[in-house]
Amino acid sequence: MELMKGVHVIETYATTTLLVDDRLVLIDTSADADGGKVLDYFAKIKIKPKDLSTIFITHTHPDHVGGLAAIKHGSPAKVASSRIEADFIARRRVYDGPPGVQRHPGTPVDVLLDDGQLHDGLRVIFTPGHTRGSMSLLDESRSLCIAGDAVNNESGLRPMPDPYNVDPKQHRASIKKLATFHFENVVMGHGTPIVGGASAKIAELAKRV
Ligand SMILES: [Zn+2]
Repeated sequence: MELMKGVHVIETYATTTLLVDDRLVLIDTSADADGGKVLDYFAKIKIKPKDLSTIFITHTHPDHVGGLAAIKHGSPAKVASSRIEADFIARRRVYDGPPGVQRHPGTPVDVLLDDGQLHDGLRVIFTPGHTRGSMSLLDESRSLCIAGDAVNNESGLRPMPDPYNVDPKQHRASIKKLATFHFENVVMGHGTPIVGGASAKIAELAKRV
């Protein structure tokens, strides 16, 4: 569905976000090994993977990286992730955190992002602790944060459940970090997006984690 003008949120177990401007940017790729739900959505709104400029991966968990190889196949889109996460996404290194052995086909990461960097219209905010190299992204033009699994809103705003966090303490520090940015809207991997007053709500959460 189109959450805001040019912001499409695709329900794929973990949320996939598509930004449509003068260029197309995808954030995360679903759990589907064939990228099915994402590609079906593309067909519905008449866009093609070859028209994507960047596929950002917030972190290497299977429900975010599962469809990457299929969606990237045949597309000149550049894959971008945090510098820390890239080797796990590419399967060059074995990931040592939950939920266990990685099974997605490794896809090389083309753009190694650093904290604070602006890339293809999005500001990178490293939010580690859920995985070692988790990141969130800020679309300043829309006051929109795409938080990945830095926060969860499945039953109220809260951290991700700790069995899924490689470093629960660092995960909470990242929530406090995210709360220092201002944005009206947030989309996260799991739970209902917040439209209006989003960073104030994350600041409230940051006080109690
Ligand atoms: Zn995750």
